[in-house]
Amino acid sequence: MVSVHKITENVVEIRGESSLYILLKEKLVIDTGFEFEKKEIKTALKEIIEPEDVKFVVFTHLHMDHVGNADIFPNAKFYASEQAIKDFKAEPLEAVLEEDAAKTLNTIQLSPIKSGEWGLEVIKTPGHTAGSIALYYKKDKVLFTGDTKFRHGHIGRVDLPTSVPSEMRNSLKKLEEIDYEIMCPGHNY
Ligand SMILES: [Zn+2]
Repeated sequence: MVSVHKITENVVEIRGESSLYILLKEKLVIDTGFEFEKKEIKTALKEIIEPEDVKFVVFTHLHMDHVGNADIFPNAKFYASEQAIKDFKAEPLEAVLEEDAAKTLNTIQLSPIKSGEWGLEVIKTPGHTAGSIALYYKKDKVLFTGDTKFRHGHIGRVDLPTSVPSEMRNSLKKLEEIDYEIMCPGHNY
């Protein structure tokens, strides 16, 4: 099941197994969800923005459930952290965790994200993966945490191939120091 949730005037969530977030004014999408939900995600998306009109896609990290629908944005430029791109180039399967998603990701050009672009502060949060990032949209006090931090005190797994368990605690601490009002995690839990 895919559902749509308005977070603020400018931020909309498409929630499936994973969440996509859309910054309307910036025509920017954060994460793209699981491939198996492509049809439903596309339908939900079209009610909000035409996929062809999306200019930027930012990945919090490159796991399959976050990059699965990169191919529905034909005109977007794609961004991830420098570390995530490096790890993907070195060991695609370990970085993405699934062959098909890794193949899809291989067809798009990934650029390293810079902090401050589109009003998004980039916070490096190694732990769940070495190249994981959180994004702080200061204007609306919204923090996108990827798979680092979930609701109700849950945190991301740190037993995956590119995980760095020893850094997780410090990354979570960094997030606690941010003056956010709304947390938008990569999954609805
Ligand atoms: Zn993940």
